[in-house]
Amino acid sequence: MSTFGNAQVQLKKAADKLGISKQTLGALLEPEHIEKVFCKVEMDDGETKTFEGYRVRHNTNRGPGKGGIRFHPQVDLDEVKALANWMTWKCAVMDVPFGGAKGGVVVDPKKLSKEELKRLSQTFMKLIAPVVGPEKDIPAPDVGTNAEVMEWMLDAYNSAVGGQHPGVITGKPLIRGGSVGRDDATARGGFYLLQKVAQDLEFPKHLTLAIQGFGNAGQFMAKLAADAGYRVVAVSDSSGGVSNPNGLDVAKLLAHKMSTGRVAGFQGQTISNEEILELPVDVLVPAALENQITKNNARKIKAKVVLELANGPTTPEADDILFQKGVIVLPDILANAGGVTVSYFEWFQNQNGQKWTLDQVHEKLLEKMLQAAQKVFETAHKVNTDFRTAALMVALRRVMSAQKVA
Ligand code: NAD
Repeated sequence: MSTFGNAQVQLKKAADKLGISKQTLGALLEPEHIEKVFCKVEMDDGETKTFEGYRVRHNTNRGPGKGGIRFHPQVDLDEVKALANWMTWKCAVMDVPFGGAKGGVVVDPKKLSKEELKRLSQTFMKLIAPVVGPEKDIPAPDVGTNAEVMEWMLDAYNSAVGGQHPGVITGKPLIRGGSVGRDDATARGGFYLLQKVAQDLEFPKHLTLAIQGFGNAGQFMAKLAADAGYRVVAVSDSSGGVSNPNGLDVAKLLAHKMSTGRVAGFQGQTISNEEILELPVDVLVPAALENQITKNNARKIKAKVVLELANGPTTPEADDILFQKGVIVLPDILANAGGVTVSYFEWFQNQNGQKWTLDQVHEKLLEKMLQAAQKVFETAHKVNTDFRTAALMVALRRVMSAQKVA
């Protein structure tokens, strides 16, 4: 099943519970606009290479499109459509006034020099400039992109349309209109949610976590968890993983990742990306890519809670198995929504000439996460369903009630 196919199955389940017709659902699934571009970029050796890219705007009933830009060799239209779809539902669950969008370029950014990466980022932004904008569609970082890439893209947008438009992109450096608290926002939102659930379920104070994926989302999650006294017993990235049942030294691990660019080589037992998912931990945090927990390994998951910092890590078949096993899945459209929520705060500050403090950002993020969680948990209990379906039901109601008249 394709990633977009998974998104379709998830939504259909929620739509069935709400009694939404097939036709209405079909219209809600397909994007409003797809922009496909070919970025012709001069390499350092003088050769010109072409990189394929996409910007998909899924739904703007509730506000401008919003969603990250991914640089990864496995990017394709199916994946970008799915990711754009999930952004619509995520913004609606969080009740931030955005619709859903996503972008991606088929490239392995690790294989480019810094100057090549900059030229690619700026070429891509120039090509999508006509379809993005502070009140139209607002990109942000995702896998393989970061604040520096956002800064390059902001410059490219400003030079393409003229003037200064900080609100066209979020996740920017502070000096260019970024918001304090955006760097760790995805992990922090998930962490606030986890704290609530851990309290509700009376988890031990030193609960154990395994984290698959050690980039922006995974690294900040490890830090927040360790600072709270939780035990991070395993982490992995594309280079492989390490584990230590007594808990890894997260500060040293972060320093190792910073200096070597990889998790592999850190002291501890070696563990594969598949094995990490099956560890007997309280909380499993997928923070890498889609389709990691599938019908093939769902029965072997031993965690009590799966906190989805990644988008789409669990397939619909796996969802059913985990629900039957009593594993609590905190779904991506809620668990990783801290990122888009603080992106909204950043955009709001840009559009209104404001600068918030870190305390203000954290306080407002906590409030948004708890409000959204409450609504999702209530819905799930009321209709006796899993949290993903409940979150999609909340989102669908909101998106449909904001349907444009013309
Ligand atoms: P990133 O590029 O900073 O990090 C990705 C990490 O995943 C890297 O450590 C990489 O080595 C690792 N990885 C790749 N393939 C892997 C595999 N097969 N097994 C284990 N690790 C693997 O990206 P990120 O921003 O941290 O995003 C991670 C996930 O979180 C994605 O699904 C993304 O869509 C989602 N997300 C990110 C944000 C954000 O604000 N950055 C917001 C919401 C959701």
